[in-house]
Amino acid sequence: MAKLEDIVSLCKRRGFIYRGSEVYGGLAGTWDYGPLGVRLKWNIMDLWWKTFVDDRDDIYGVEAAILMNPKVWQASGHVDTFTDPLVECSNCKGRFRADKIDISKCTTCGKAGTFGEPRQFNMMFKTHIGPVGRLGFNDENVKESITGTKRGDLLDGNLVYLRPETAQGIFTNYKNVVDSFSPDIPFGIGQMGKAFRNEISPRDFVFRSREFEQMEVEYFVHKDNWQAEFEKWVVDIDAFLKNLGLPDSKIKKVEVPEADRAHYSQRTIDYEFEFPHGNDELLGLAYRSDFDLGNIARASGKNMEYRPKDSSASFVPHVIEPSFGVERAIMAVLTGAYTEDEVNGEKRIFLKLPHHLAPVRVAVSPLLKNKPQLGAKAREVYKMLKTEIDNVMYDDNGNIGKRYRRQDEIGTPYCVVIDFDSLENNDVTIRHRDTTKQQRIKIDELIPELK
Ligand code: ATP
Repeated sequence: MAKLEDIVSLCKRRGFIYRGSEVYGGLAGTWDYGPLGVRLKWNIMDLWWKTFVDDRDDIYGVEAAILMNPKVWQASGHVDTFTDPLVECSNCKGRFRADKIDISKCTTCGKAGTFGEPRQFNMMFKTHIGPVGRLGFNDENVKESITGTKRGDLLDGNLVYLRPETAQGIFTNYKNVVDSFSPDIPFGIGQMGKAFRNEISPRDFVFRSREFEQMEVEYFVHKDNWQAEFEKWVVDIDAFLKNLGLPDSKIKKVEVPEADRAHYSQRTIDYEFEFPHGNDELLGLAYRSDFDLGNIARASGKNMEYRPKDSSASFVPHVIEPSFGVERAIMAVLTGAYTEDEVNGEKRIFLKLPHHLAPVRVAVSPLLKNKPQLGAKAREVYKMLKTEIDNVMYDDNGNIGKRYRRQDEIGTPYCVVIDFDSLENNDVTIRHRDTTKQQRIKIDELIPELK
């Protein structure tokens, strides 16, 4: 089992993930993706989009604005209830999420009985839209429009939130998509993108971040069919997790008991993964009834009913929501792929990534860096491969042994090496990541073989 520090260290060393704003000492809960990390992340997101949007006739993709009218978050209940219980230690002033720790004793300073009653802390980040200032002498018109404000108050009239989930950007576009595309029900709308949560204690690498990405579908169904559609989603999610290369043995589906479910939901499954820090939520699948569309209809006064084409009675659809977190998917993929073995008596670390997720699919190298004929031939092969295969890398750094070690660590499935025989015979060596076996092949046959 990979240790968290091994994964964090590999990610930094090899250019996957760095601490956010590291040069200034970092910013808790934020992470920056390096050249390989961003590729891995996009490969995961592309796979999700292809699986759940492009390859399906019944799901439409959208990209809503991150900043939304604050009425969205009032109607959805986030302003009132999107909270976590916060406790503060009176001794060391450490702040913790009360539901995630044993509050009888502070985990930082070790003192017992130092926590008061938990208070509810809203996790939405606030910001202001348009010019902001303090209410001054010349703000008579503004003053009139905001009751209860006095000189010196921060103008709150233009308060907006950074979205804490992508789901509401889907619900607010439900009617637009229905009007533009007249979909048959059941149908879904999918969105991928940033979400922001002011987590009380971000932790476990990117697992709990303050800025992260989600991939969500809201799947609209007739209320009588929700159970059958829910079961289909379980099958589809299982297939996607397999495609991410996640071992079945590390995935646990947890039926959330009624007491822990939202009042409107009759079924929720948390998909847990065996992360290095323990079993924890990778994604959720929830039946949300007509809660969200009902709220929007009430708050906006707009009709959210779906009108069936067979002229049967209109109804407000119910919703099934599979909600994936990109960072947690990355952590799961890295955890599943991290492997240590021994080659010729030496310890080797490699990422056994599924080929379609690897940030570099093929690395092309000259056997020796300082031989111009080898370099020229290697460049020729590199250019040829690039026209047909995504994410091919030219690598002539260090000696060949170091290159293999580096490519293994970043999960490159194949290294193609050009040597002196290549100049004579037009053939090259393919070296396989998982077995370290080498295979000789004509350059003409390289593309079909690698594909
Ligand atoms: P948790 O209980 O771990 O805080 P949650 O139940 O609040 O998660 P949801 O609101 O259901 O999470 O969000 C859907 C998905 O978004 C989660 O399954 C997870 O993959 C991802 N996610 C949520 N919060 C974070 C975060 N702070 N950092 C990274 N991913 C997150």
